[in-house]
Amino acid sequence: MTQAAASPAGNPLAMERLDLIKTGAFIGGEWVGEPSGATFPVLNPADGSLIVEIADGGADLAKAAADAAAQAFVTWRHTTAKTRSSLLRAWFDLVIKHQDDLARLMAWEMGKPLAEAKGEVAYGAGYLEWFAEEAKRANGDVIPTPIAGRQMLAVREPLGVAAVITPWNFPVAMIARKFGPALAAGCTVVAKPAEDTPLSALALVQLAHEAGVPAGVINIVPASRARTPDIAQAWLDDGRVRKISFTGSTPVGKLLARGSADTLKRLSLELGGDAPFIVFEDADLDVAVDALMKAKFRNAGQACIAANRVLVHDSIYDAFSGKMADAVGRLTVGAAQDGAFDIGPLINQRALDKVERLVAEALAAGARVLVGGARHSSGGAFYQPTVLTDVPDHLRASCEEIFGPVLPIARFKTEDEAVALANDTAFGLAAYFCSKDQARVWRVAGRLEAGMVGINEGAISSEYAPFGGVKESGYGREGSVHGLAEYQSLKYICMGGLG
Ligand code: NAD
Repeated sequence: MTQAAASPAGNPLAMERLDLIKTGAFIGGEWVGEPSGATFPVLNPADGSLIVEIADGGADLAKAAADAAAQAFVTWRHTTAKTRSSLLRAWFDLVIKHQDDLARLMAWEMGKPLAEAKGEVAYGAGYLEWFAEEAKRANGDVIPTPIAGRQMLAVREPLGVAAVITPWNFPVAMIARKFGPALAAGCTVVAKPAEDTPLSALALVQLAHEAGVPAGVINIVPASRARTPDIAQAWLDDGRVRKISFTGSTPVGKLLARGSADTLKRLSLELGGDAPFIVFEDADLDVAVDALMKAKFRNAGQACIAANRVLVHDSIYDAFSGKMADAVGRLTVGAAQDGAFDIGPLINQRALDKVERLVAEALAAGARVLVGGARHSSGGAFYQPTVLTDVPDHLRASCEEIFGPVLPIARFKTEDEAVALANDTAFGLAAYFCSKDQARVWRVAGRLEAGMVGINEGAISSEYAPFGGVKESGYGREGSVHGLAEYQSLKYICMGGLG
């Protein structure tokens, strides 16, 4: 097999290392093409132009990747924690060294403003650094024995081959957040990056290779959306794959949960969100505006923890909506290749159509546009930053995930009503609220059904903290001191006859 022949078209963001653009799968330490020669296009969402055609992997490459990972696991699992830590640290150093190029590549294939893309590279690298450190702290337990002459221990062991499937909205961070703990624990990895943004993931893997991660420890197979189920099925059916870590939509997460039942794989599912953002009457309105701008408009609203439903107390509704309209009206929109803008394009036409439909439905039901409310004059997949008020009753509770720069603001009158509305959803990833009342802060934080709660703060993600949801937002936690355990099993060892 040879790497699919292709070269990137143009270089609008002036990447220095164009050789970081990879067009094949990385298996057993080598870049390879799809045996059938099939390719699929990676497009610039700002103007729809072709960046490059890359290998469209299928079941054969998926199996080859699992073979390589299973073989590498035999030795990788026994490397010392210190060795794994040093390799992750070397990878972290290279990612930081190439932060600008990785950000340019991400902006090119994903449309993220360059400053945000740089921030994501640093955020993602943080997980490599964090788990380089955690690798050395995978302590077990010495258990006080109830029977004389025995020693009882619990030690942590790597699960085996981990399959990783990631979304397009944080194409560097989602890979790093999964590969970091997997490698630190002693697992080997097979991965399938999102079809809209495979290049960032492939570039990260190239840097891992340059950092000295041994052949077979990391394997990655890009694929179009049409061929993705074949790859997933190959890994679901493979008994050597002991873990699936998936970030993406809830329907696909459920498919993977069902599909892994036959081989009883361990699962981490980071799925969709429907985050409420409550502004109580005692909130500092400027703090609330600042928090909501971060919670909603980062990545053009395309974040699973983006504020999806804003609930504002009746007594401050007009004042707060006015302040939000002013702040949103100041956001700039444009392509990363044309300058420094706040909001880039949506990922593709499908995403744009969905945002348009949701706004049309809200307006038909009686909502009013304060700012925006239509496609942006830049054309393509650009949508205007939008504020909708007077969002009617039936839209105040469970909303579809908007995944765009559209902010619907609704009213409430009592704390009980706000909490009930916030919890009236099948999802439970993030929730936010703003208040200066300390009693209310602790009371409401306890009552919200969510894996993560931001109070007077809209940017809550950190490698130091556990990321994950409850309800249909999935299970498992990434980052923090808890992240490593997702890739480990506990082995109990009992030794008798010790006198
Ligand atoms: P998606 O579920 O469509 O795709 C995610 C990944 O799953 C992609 O790599 C895709 O190719 C793959 N996939 C698609 N069909 C599959 C199948 N049948 N079998 C196996 N894999 C398949 O989601 P998306 O549109 O890429 O991302 C948006 C969604 O991801 C949103 O719902 C968002 O909330 C969620 N998300 C969650 C988190 C989190 O941490 N909870 C983070 C980012 C995004």
